[in-house]
Amino acid sequence: MYLSPSLMSDEKLQGCQSPLVLVVEDNDDSLLLVSYTLELLGYRFIAQRHGWTTLLVAQEYQPDLILLDIFLPDISGLDVLRYLKQEQHTRHIPVVAVTALVDHRGRDWMIELGFDDFISKPYLIEELEAVILAMLKQKFPLTSVLELCQE
Ligand code: MN
Repeated sequence: MYLSPSLMSDEKLQGCQSPLVLVVEDNDDSLLLVSYTLELLGYRFIAQRHGWTTLLVAQEYQPDLILLDIFLPDISGLDVLRYLKQEQHTRHIPVVAVTALVDHRGRDWMIELGFDDFISKPYLIEELEAVILAMLKQKFPLTSVLELCQE
């Protein structure tokens, strides 16, 4: 599968076993902020701007975490979540909703819908970091991430 280089993390990171995060975001500014945060953490990432391609990329790359925008140009993030959770090869991947879509039901509603966590836009980089770290801490204890990339 061809992926534009600008939508993937630095080449030198690709060979390392640091967490791989799939970022689904159609807004360039938001995408830039998330990419920057993931680079700070030393994580690898792949970005997608559309829902349908996200399903294919998730299957093929088996990311450790998916950060999912709700308003996408084709299908909604809620549909993406539904398909991901229906599919045997992607249902185990934690999915965090990243969206400005907030009403009084807020985070609880997102969890009810099947997301593993929720972060509302606009957010501080530290908040995004905290959510990502919390999601990945079991599979990747904090101290191990840098060690994974030092060879
Ligand atoms: Mn959007």
